[in-house]
Amino acid sequence: MKLGIFGGTFNPIHYGHLRAAEEVRGMHKLDKILFIPSGRTPFKKPELASGRRRYEMTKIAVRGNPSFDVSDIELKRRGVSYTVDTLISLTGKYKSAEFFLILGIDAFLDLPSWKEPDKLLGLANIVVISRPGFSFTDLASSQYFKGVSLKTLRRFDKGDKASMSFKAGAGSKIFLCRITGLDISASGARRLIRSGKSIKYLLPDSVESYIISNKIYK
Ligand code: ATP
Repeated sequence: MKLGIFGGTFNPIHYGHLRAAEEVRGMHKLDKILFIPSGRTPFKKPELASGRRRYEMTKIAVRGNPSFDVSDIELKRRGVSYTVDTLISLTGKYKSAEFFLILGIDAFLDLPSWKEPDKLLGLANIVVISRPGFSFTDLASSQYFKGVSLKTLRRFDKGDKASMSFKAGAGSKIFLCRITGLDISASGARRLIRSGKSIKYLLPDSVESYIISNKIYK
């Protein structure tokens, strides 16, 4: 089984996340994508809704898509959540699965500051997805792209190829994946809510209703 892992604060989940997951699923023929709302993160996050609220919103958002599922694995864990620990638990649960960890370019650039990034790269393939405001050329500064020329990254940014791959540690691969650019962020959505503006069409109606009826981010 090919299993996509999509972690995030999902504070709230929006169409940028959902469309990205759908396109990666199609490109890599993944059997399933597991959305994993983060537990307590080691990084300070302003206006973080409770784990239960973020889990509920993510559940509501993926309803009706048989390939999408939500895991509360990080929310159940005590203390700070690290992706490497989550992957270790999941390899125990899904013994025969090949893992594909989905990260936006911005998140991938943070990887060196995560717990045991090299171990993480040994446990899962990484799918780095495009995100408006970032380019694949930005990856040239990453220690994981030392062997990759700036020219190759530039060509990928400008070309029409949707995907390319590189070898990472321990038999895993790093895939670059160009997806439809949706300039949506959770922080942008929260800002709109705070100023009393509409968030319609940035995220599913069902999630919008949940936010409004529970007065989240007000
Ligand atoms: P915030 O604005 O609060 O920082 P966010 O919109 O970046 O939140 P996260 O839950 O932090 O959302 O993101 C989870 C993952 O989804 C990250 O890997 C991030 O890069 C990716 N991601 C978020 N929004 C998009 C988008 N519009 N297009 C592509 N990737 C995205």
